[in-house]
Amino acid sequence: MKIIMLGAPGAGKGTQAKRIAEKFNIPHISTGDIFRANIKNGTELGKEAKKYMDEGQLVPDELTVRLLLDRVKNDDCKNGYVLDGFPRTIPQAEVLDRELEKLGEKVDYAVDVDVPDENIINRMSGRRACLKCGATYHLQYLKPKKDGICDSCGSELVLRDDDKPETVKKRLTVYHEQTQPLIDYYTKSRVLHTVDGTVDPDDVFKAIEEILR
Ligand code: ADP
Ligand code: ADP
Ligand code: ZN
Repeated sequence: MKIIMLGAPGAGKGTQAKRIAEKFNIPHISTGDIFRANIKNGTELGKEAKKYMDEGQLVPDELTVRLLLDRVKNDDCKNGYVLDGFPRTIPQAEVLDRELEKLGEKVDYAVDVDVPDENIINRMSGRRACLKCGATYHLQYLKPKKDGICDSCGSELVLRDDDKPETVKKRLTVYHEQTQPLIDYYTKSRVLHTVDGTVDPDDVFKAIEEILR
């Protein structure tokens, strides 16, 4: 089963992707997490990606596509995967479709987590992220058991550099210009499903389970 998560920055893609991955026992692949791990480890890829991420811009397709295609070739992906944050542009989606087609495969579901822009800025300033395992929390809506500490791995939680309001506004503009057209793209290929992302995370997940049943 190959699932794509669509939605604005902060819509809850990562939160839901983690749950889907657990339930269906498939890997959760977040290009943002992979970039952040590279930044943390000081790799060349990390240095290149950081320039764009700090500005709220997308990392160029060429870099991102190569990284993603390498990742989905791994053995753990043979029963499928849930992609969180990829594709983010039409060219990325086209490359993915082309590569899958070569293997006689396709995207099975594109789940759009719908949250209006007004809610996003507030969501992002309250987001706290674990840079070690990729888990995210929220100061109001999804608190960790212990303040500032990741439930899953015990690492310290941080406010991401790109979650500051100015950068979030830029990322929203980039989302509308470059990523939102994917909703049409996947509507045309008849795999798009939309869920209301403004309700409680458990209820968002219930709606997604209904779609994937
Ligand atoms: P969010 O959780 O807000 O959706 P991500 O963690 O998915 O953000 O991504 C953080 C940043 O990493 C993006 O703003 C962008 O700069 C970069 N990035 C992640 N995925 C992609 C992608 N598929 N294409 C280009 N840039 C990406
Ligand atoms: P994305 O991966 O789309 O950028 P996240 O899953 O990281 O989004 O969620 C963004 C922020 O909103 C996080 O702080 C997360 O804990 C919180 N969040 C996720 N889903 C919900 C929800 N349904 N209601 C309220 N807050 C949520
Ligand atoms: Zn963690």
